[in-house]
Amino acid sequence: MAADLDKPSLNASHRCDACGSRAYVRVNIETGINDAGYVDNGELFWCCHHAREHMPVIKARSIVLHILDETRFLTEHVKDDGHVIEGQAAKRPGT
Ligand SMILES: [Zn+2]
Repeated sequence: MAADLDKPSLNASHRCDACGSRAYVRVNIETGINDAGYVDNGELFWCCHHAREHMPVIKARSIVLHILDETRFLTEHVKDDGHVIEGQAAKRPGT
């Protein structure tokens, strides 16, 4: 599964579960085993702020299956069609 790292998977329709801002982090956690014996999982969406706030708790209390962290796109302007326009803020000194 090759991910296109230049384009975000999350778009403006994904909103933070905590505050309703645009989500830049998606976390898949195991929520239990269903009747068929398969692992059920839930999705959580967070903005950058709430990802920082809640991630340690989720990691401590849940079985995290996958984390999609696209906070790097937060410093760039992302159009609704997913096209990224390069932003100056993305170039940090020393990185
Ligand atoms: Zn939030």
